[in-house]
Amino acid sequence: MIELSGVSKVYRTAHGEVRALDDVTLSIREGEFVALKGHSGSGKSTLLALMGGLALPNEGSVSVAGCDVEKLSSSERARFREDNVGFVFQMFHLLPYLSVLDNVLVAAPASGRSASRETAKQLLSDFGMAARITHRPSQLSAGERQRVAMARALLNRPKLLLADEPTGNLDENNAEAVLDYLTSFHKAGGTIVLATHDERAAERADRIIELSSGKVTSAVATK
Ligand code: ADP
Ligand code: MG
Repeated sequence: MIELSGVSKVYRTAHGEVRALDDVTLSIREGEFVALKGHSGSGKSTLLALMGGLALPNEGSVSVAGCDVEKLSSSERARFREDNVGFVFQMFHLLPYLSVLDNVLVAAPASGRSASRETAKQLLSDFGMAARITHRPSQLSAGERQRVAMARALLNRPKLLLADEPTGNLDENNAEAVLDYLTSFHKAGGTIVLATHDERAAERADRIIELSSGKVTSAVATK
């Protein structure tokens, strides 16, 4: 499903270069649930951005669902994301001036908005948010916001879900609920890469990949 070979990512800043990923080679099978662990700054978010075609490597190749991501144009990458990838972030990234329903529909392809509307309502209902679809994000708790973000991530029925510390801003019960949704996506055959500091989150995964200073330091099967 995902093949990274000799991948490096360098950020150039006013203070010099930061090598966020350094010669990373790894592969993730279709249907696998992988947790990415490592200290803050170890490269987890950068790795997710590369896997999802949000960023390009300086060196090496990134292949996801049969696409050589680094060879695609930016519009092809947008299409690749729409077809294959859902993202969930720690800070939810909902748009404050849109309703819950319209926040989910942000992910809809321009051509399929009316079909997506029904899917969005169904997903929100699955996540216990049916009564909240006209609300604004500011009217929701953190746990509810993350459920809206999950519905947005799943709108296009992605094969791959990339989750960047999705439980980082949630209390225990809401964190468990989000992990339960991730686990059910996995059980239905989906592939997940989850960056997390949360031990309980990592325990749900089939394999834990550890990053340190942009390098993979271990990859351990948990099951
Ligand atoms: P993590 O998610 O594990 O905290 P990141 O992938 O966010 O790690 O960051 C890896 C390294 O790259 C860190 O040193 C971080 O400061 C740096 N970095 C990340 N994004 C940028 C950016 N846009 N510009 C400059 N440096 C960045
Ligand atoms: Mg991060």
